[in-house]
Amino acid sequence: PSTRGGPMSLTTTRIPGFRGRLIAANDDDYDRARAVWNGSVDRRPGLIGRCSDTNDVATAVRFARAHELEIAVRGGGHNVSGTAMCDDGIVIDLAPMRDVWVDPAKRIAYVQGGALWCDVDQATQTYGLATTGGIVSHTGVGGLSLGGGIGWLMRKHGLTVDNLVAAEVVTAGGEIIRASATDHPDLFWALRGGGGNFGIVTSFRFALHPVGPTVLAGPVFWAAEDTTDVLRFYRDFLTDVPDELGNIVRLGTIPPLPAISPELHFRTAIAVASCYAGPVRYGERLVRALREFGTPLVDLVAPTSYVDHQASIDDTVPHGWHYYWKATDLTALSDEVIGIVAEHAYRATSPRSYVAMFHLGGAVGRAPSDATAYNGRDVDHNIVIDAAWLPEQDETVAATETAWAREFLDALQGHRAGVYVNFLDSDDNASRVHDAYGDNTYDRLADIKATYDPENVFHHNKNIQPVHA
Ligand code: FAD
Repeated sequence: PSTRGGPMSLTTTRIPGFRGRLIAANDDDYDRARAVWNGSVDRRPGLIGRCSDTNDVATAVRFARAHELEIAVRGGGHNVSGTAMCDDGIVIDLAPMRDVWVDPAKRIAYVQGGALWCDVDQATQTYGLATTGGIVSHTGVGGLSLGGGIGWLMRKHGLTVDNLVAAEVVTAGGEIIRASATDHPDLFWALRGGGGNFGIVTSFRFALHPVGPTVLAGPVFWAAEDTTDVLRFYRDFLTDVPDELGNIVRLGTIPPLPAISPELHFRTAIAVASCYAGPVRYGERLVRALREFGTPLVDLVAPTSYVDHQASIDDTVPHGWHYYWKATDLTALSDEVIGIVAEHAYRATSPRSYVAMFHLGGAVGRAPSDATAYNGRDVDHNIVIDAAWLPEQDETVAATETAWAREFLDALQGHRAGVYVNFLDSDDNASRVHDAYGDNTYDRLADIKATYDPENVFHHNKNIQPVHA
């Protein structure tokens, strides 16, 4: 494979001092190692360095710099745009680094940079604790946290970044440093929303909160024809819900989950899924109005363990399908927006495609807009249009689903605010990355990038250009 510094065969490369495993194109498990969640990503790195610890990460960075190799960083491998993989160069793969240590007395979790949310949820729930994480438990902590982190608990406990207390970081120079409110505070601010631009986080330290272990959670489904009525009701219902209630709307076909009777599988429907992170009996009282609205097709709201709830939709978005996303923050859930959503949501032809709308607000909106590098605290709803199809389906399906997502996003023009950086896909250009931050945050991030990564070594990401480059 060629590299930025000139041709160098990486198939026989050894990295002095690297204790993890190096995987190259001639290894049997190379294809497995280069696969990410989105099966449409097909990149061929020269070398994949499976790191066993922080020292391996630093060693790999220094080696890559010395040989002028492209660097990509893989956390959980979930980013839809596949930035965890590069062509040629080296992937610094944190997959073996999934340990989580919990200090229940201090309500703190120490989480290695390659952990998945299932690792965190299981370890923290042992003590009846949790922090805001993603809604699919096989998503990586690394990329999700560095972009902001939205999830069921955010309205009560803030974004994932609002719970980040400190991080251990390997810099572009291969140094190991700590970032917190008192150590490298500029870097600490940038890490909380600025993505993988500023270094490789080998360990996150998160604040935890008492949650569950039983929560009232689950979706209520209504027929697609009821979408406008359900969304109008939902908007009104949200006006005085407490922060304990997290809500996500899902529009698409009913997934073939074991809890749902087979005759409903793949029928088009709107679902409002909730998670009440407080006493179950209060939650029951609160969501009664939602459950009693109209004529639900199926109501799966029930007391459930938080860990199970976190994994409840894992199988609806498996590894290896092909995915394409378009996303935006919404200025409001106005009648017009509801009309556009109702008109476009069910135009997808793949039964695997769907739309998700997250309800933000609560603690997310109360934090000052410049508290972290996450932008978009002032909006109450965002939407992600998730086109999904099977790898064996032909190009026509890919083209149809991709066009659906793009046309849907275009139809929302005039109702769009910024966008959550972690929902951007590979064809979202630099100006959309800029939109994800807005002028002030982007400029501040570009300054910090110039301090910590002036040569833009970490650019396989939603890239912030260093201000002096
Ligand atoms: P990767 O693809 O491994 O990494 C993406 C990028 O992050 C890398 O290119 C790298 O630049 C950087 N990175 C990753 N780890 C590190 C690290 N340790 N140090 C430095 N840089 C790193 N987001 C939410 O906020 N809430 C959700 O509920 C949510 N649900 C999702 C559900 C699914 C099925 C999927 C696919 C995504 C979801 N997301 C959600 C989006 C998610 O936040 C991003 O996809 C995120 O990038 C995933 O992180 P990862 O570590 O798995 O990704």
